[in-house]
Amino acid sequence: MSGPVTSVDAPPDQRAPDPPMTPCAEVLDDREAKVGNITVRRALPRRGRRTVGAWCFADHMGPEQVDEAKSPGQGGGLDIGPHPHMGLHTVTWLVDGALLHRDSLGSEQLIRPGQLNLMTAGHGVVHAEEMSRTYRGSLQGVQLWVAQPESTRDGAAAFEHHASLPVADLDNGSAVVLVGSLADATSLARHDTELVGAQLTVRRGGTVVPVRRDFEHALVVIDGEVAVGESVVRPGQLGYVGMGRDELPLSSLDGARLLLLGGVPFPEPIVMWWNFVGRTKEEMAQARTQWSTEDERFGPVDTALARIPAPPAL
Ligand code: MN
Repeated sequence: MSGPVTSVDAPPDQRAPDPPMTPCAEVLDDREAKVGNITVRRALPRRGRRTVGAWCFADHMGPEQVDEAKSPGQGGGLDIGPHPHMGLHTVTWLVDGALLHRDSLGSEQLIRPGQLNLMTAGHGVVHAEEMSRTYRGSLQGVQLWVAQPESTRDGAAAFEHHASLPVADLDNGSAVVLVGSLADATSLARHDTELVGAQLTVRRGGTVVPVRRDFEHALVVIDGEVAVGESVVRPGQLGYVGMGRDELPLSSLDGARLLLLGGVPFPEPIVMWWNFVGRTKEEMAQARTQWSTEDERFGPVDTALARIPAPPAL
């Protein structure tokens, strides 16, 4: 599961609106995009909202049935050939199914629901994602990107897999913490800025989520629907709720599963183009050239899948 970002999602270097310092509830529609042969719903970036904390990309993929006709090598399913990243972390979260991650660090890791893959691109990394060769059934997940701050964005690449994650009990709900802390649960996953990412399960009626006042937050609903005040957020939408809350009351008639994304507003304007996060168009052009010329900045991945060519320069 992977980008890329196009200018349809948001102009590459548009300045994000300043985050509201007070609680709000704005609901932004997503956009359908193609990743591999699977349709995804892109909640971030949107023209009206480019970052939430350092979270800068969110694709909800599936649910889609994986069967023989969509098996690897037959032009279906989710086979994403080698492609480069820089200046960001990729956070891969599955709701159903299985995916195999391979990267230019030599990592080879199968991921299943409830587990976390977190790859740090830094100065440059390449990865490929393949459907498990034996998995058949429903495939559903979320691919997230986190922008790296100036202090680490040119640093070394890294990969970590978390086979289990901490769970916080909420009143009438629970939260699996992917990154950062929520209630009394803290994930061991790396984060370079103050950040939280959690999958919330909200039971019928609703719950109240403790959140940090200095974080802005957004909701990406996986299934069901939740309401923040009068604003209802459904799958395929981004529910942005601003800053300045100690708790976030979520009501839900029939229960819901959703991702909560939050963090300290990202202090630096970013440029996003294709699979890269940087600060200038010149950096993008240089990275594009280096990928296209197979420069050693972006190393090889051990996979049978073909490299994905870069689109025309920005
Ligand atoms: Mn990727």
